[in-house]
Amino acid sequence: MIQGQCHCGAVRHELTGEGQHHTALCHCTDCRRHAGAPVVCWSGYPAPTLNVTGETRVYASSEHGRRHFCSECGTGLFYYNEAFLPGIVDVQTATFDNPEDHAPQVHVQFAEHLAWMDGIDGLPKFARYPGQEDQGPDQVVP
Ligand SMILES: [Zn+2]
Ligand SMILES: [Zn+2]
Repeated sequence: MIQGQCHCGAVRHELTGEGQHHTALCHCTDCRRHAGAPVVCWSGYPAPTLNVTGETRVYASSEHGRRHFCSECGTGLFYYNEAFLPGIVDVQTATFDNPEDHAPQVHVQFAEHLAWMDGIDGLPKFARYPGQEDQGPDQVVP
């Protein structure tokens, strides 16, 4: 079983894990705008294998795209698109209880990616925030 939840916990979800379709980082402008984040990770499964408890709201982000989010805290959770992904539910991978177990295999919609995403691995990495007492710039994570 793969379990997860929104930030506030009002919505819990559970997948059997059968019939995994994909795990992908999506760079499309719809995902970016709706999530307020430069990229969104999605894991696709057969829609009937998803069980949800709690109340979600649905937003039509395009003609066929339907984004489900927690009606309490707003966390993006599920995406359905019967035209392009019939029978599949995409779940936001970062809402799983163990997201480390679900590494993406591909980038999708890369034609719309932010150019500066290409260089982010080379940015300085601080364990917390720069300037915190217990760490200077010399404690940058390798
Ligand atoms: Zn919530
Ligand atoms: Zn997208």
